Amino acid sequence: MMDLESARSWMAYYGSGIELREDELNRLDAALGDGDFGASMQRGMTAVSEAMAPNEQGSIGELFKTVGMTLVSAMGGTSGPLVGTLFLRTGMTLGEVTEVGVEELAAALRAGSEGVMALGHATLGDKTMIDALLPAIDALEGSSTVSMAQAAGLAASAARDAAEATSELRARKGRASYVGDGGVGHIDPGAMGVSILFDALDQAVGRSS
Ligand code: ADP
Ligand code: MG
Repeated sequence: MMDLESARSWMAYYGSGIELREDELNRLDAALGDGDFGASMQRGMTAVSEAMAPNEQGSIGELFKTVGMTLVSAMGGTSGPLVGTLFLRTGMTLGEVTEVGVEELAAALRAGSEGVMALGHATLGDKTMIDALLPAIDALEGSSTVSMAQAAGLAASAARDAAEATSELRARKGRASYVGDGGVGHIDPGAMGVSILFDALDQAVGRSS
């Protein structure tokens, strides 16, 4: 299970992961777009850390809704509304719970990813954040019989592998689709951002269960 404190710590690890890898994300985006993805994620997660407070969000659903709304308003760019929607929809699906199991988390993230796809019209293989998000959710869903800690580890490694594999894809959405050859040979920054998100989940629940 993941409780409210672990969910908060997930978001805190996500923020520190983004901070550590801001330059790398900017460099990835520079090869495929305008080089601002790390900076906008960093701006968004700084705002999230200010918005998260023990007495403000009383449930995991509320916490993720706050994260989503904060990212939408602080990030901007193409990715702001998309990453924001992931959390907003995930939070709306979870509702007023203070503990979630692997299956429930996977289903809520699935709904979140559907929100992202409805907004951005990207599907698997378009070389976007979707290409890391769907494999990570698949891994969580496939591990509903194991502990949260084990499931998080599997999701994190699925997201990492999938983000690296976006290098071989040709972009069909966003700025990267205007780059010569659709940016083949370069990893998508949004997909790498998803990998950072699931690494953070692994860090937050990896030692408990
Ligand atoms: P921009 O600078 O072009 O406004 P960002 O730098 O904010 O965009 O975000 C770039 C990332 O957004 C990409 O790496 C990709 O993962 C993601 N992205 C772009 N378009 C879409 C889309 N239609 N659906 C999902 N993700 C997308
Ligand atoms: Mg950009």
